[in-house]
Amino acid sequence: MLIRKFALVSLLCSSSFFISNAQAGAFAVHLTLTGESLGIIAQNYRISVDAISSANDFDDLTIQPNQIIKVPYLIATGGLAELAPSPPIGFLSHTLKSGETLSDLASQYGISIEAIIGANPDISSLDFLPIGLELLIPPEAGLVVTINSTQQLDAVLNDYGLSPKRIVKANSFISPAQLTRSTMIFLPGIKPTASLDRLAKVREDEHRYIWPVHGRITSYFGRRNLGMGTSNFHGAIDIAAPLGTAVGASRSGIIIYASWSKQGYGNLVKIRHNDGTETRYAHLSKIKVVVGQQIRQADTVGLIGSTGLSTGPHLHFEIREHNKTVDPLLLLSK
Ligand SMILES: [Zn+2]
Repeated sequence: MLIRKFALVSLLCSSSFFISNAQAGAFAVHLTLTGESLGIIAQNYRISVDAISSANDFDDLTIQPNQIIKVPYLIATGGLAELAPSPPIGFLSHTLKSGETLSDLASQYGISIEAIIGANPDISSLDFLPIGLELLIPPEAGLVVTINSTQQLDAVLNDYGLSPKRIVKANSFISPAQLTRSTMIFLPGIKPTASLDRLAKVREDEHRYIWPVHGRITSYFGRRNLGMGTSNFHGAIDIAAPLGTAVGASRSGIIIYASWSKQGYGNLVKIRHNDGTETRYAHLSKIKVVVGQQIRQADTVGLIGSTGLSTGPHLHFEIREHNKTVDPLLLLSK
């Protein structure tokens, strides 16, 4: 078969697997996958089955896996201007719902978090992505790069030591015409190292606790002497500040409690953070949040007060990891 020979020659001779000639116009080489039909291929390339069929001189419409077929690109789409950038073949799109995390997506689709990052290497945070954001779900681990010229593609293949054949297999749309504009190319098996490093630093910043209020520390974390031979354990720090001073969230999170506490906390706010840790803000004169509310770091949760078991206006600030109090002074950024 002439076409098959033509395509293979192109694959073997250089790292370019695009074919273009004046008579036939530009076309992409498509390596068929198991289970793929001409109908699916036509849909992916947004052209008709007839157009593929006649470009390849097919006798019938049955195709085999690993068959190289020619997809007439320019003719079929009527020019490249109308074609919107498309995710690579086999990718799904997922719209982030309320409360959904990247690890939820990973288990839902049976892939690693790293694979999700590889498909979405430009996300700005691992934990604070907005509801409604569209994320790409890849069929396997790898990295999506956006390029806009064949030279750039050659450079990428060279950098990662990938064979053009492997790339043809993993991508539906590749033609010289398309590469004059931004195009997503999937590089299977490539680790998104730069994104992972950047996102780890972002996460570190996002997980830093800030002072909910400034003032004077009147009671430290640990056992404290109550006089007359008695002592108790204080699982927090007390920060004295003027009545009515705004108290800010030490970290972003969700309000899980915002009312009076019978346990001596007075007016109490609890925030759960995305890693499961919890902060508590006690003795408030006024609560400014409601349960279920998402709160950003430094947003006001309430005002300094002296409600509950308290001898004067102060904030009792508690941090709990795995439901065990830890010394806030070890975690607060200075
Ligand atoms: Zn206290």
